[in-house]
Amino acid sequence: MNQAELISIGNELLSGQTLNTHAKDLGTALAAIGLQLVRDTTIPDDIPTIGSAVGEALGRTRLVFASGGLGPTVDDITRDALATMLGQEIVLDGATVATIAKRYAARGRAMTPAAERQALVLENATVLPNSVGAAPGQRIELAGEKTLFVLPGPPGEFNAILNEEIIPWLRERFPDARPKLLRIVRTAGIGESDIATLLESAGFQPARVALGFYPGKGRVQIRISADPGHEREVDTAEQTLRGLLADFLDPSS
Ligand code: ATP
Ligand code: MG
Repeated sequence: MNQAELISIGNELLSGQTLNTHAKDLGTALAAIGLQLVRDTTIPDDIPTIGSAVGEALGRTRLVFASGGLGPTVDDITRDALATMLGQEIVLDGATVATIAKRYAARGRAMTPAAERQALVLENATVLPNSVGAAPGQRIELAGEKTLFVLPGPPGEFNAILNEEIIPWLRERFPDARPKLLRIVRTAGIGESDIATLLESAGFQPARVALGFYPGKGRVQIRISADPGHEREVDTAEQTLRGLLADFLDPSS
């Protein structure tokens, strides 16, 4: 049940202009505290698409992250889409307005209406301060123990709010979550299909562990993972695998 989905919002992520780095960062941060990112959906800046994608994710999964489109420009429509979908009002967050105004004042400028728009949040949101940018993150708790996190798109801001505000909250909310067990066996000089043949003919089908094969540049990395508590199974699988692939273990690793 410790599962999360990410909805990455932005036309530029689909047109090839921007590499979507949020899934990697979120997947890594969640795995480290024993939660699992199970799906990453990238969608355009389009109100109906945002509403349906986030709504469907909330129907499937307990933790949903939506990122992008919280800025001051006309293409930043995420909060409108979510407000419509959830039936919530959008309100101005006073503390965020004060923070943005202070930053402007420090540069000798008055805050603009466009800048103030970044302080708009959903009425039931807990505001998550953004230490490196203007638009704050939002945590919205919904019926059925579902939680929706809304985060700005720039990776520096996404990661700051994730690491400073969300991960500590999730650690408290999921105190029993433990990271998966992970072992890596690196091979060289044997292709993926030859590894498959070798393992099949040896009848290598370990129970309670998952195998992942990651080929690249003449080397194949094999990842053995399992839920916590299955140390023995992981140890056995790793030893067996190293034995079967003894002639092909990557000497440089
Ligand atoms: P801003 O206030 O900066 O406009 P925003 O929340 O509105 O923030 P976007 O406008 O969607 O975010 O994107 C801002 C910047 O962050 C863009 O340069 C965009 O390409 C980048 N960005 C957005 N989403 C991602 C992502 N998933 N991975 C990497 N970069 C992203
Ligand atoms: Mg924007």
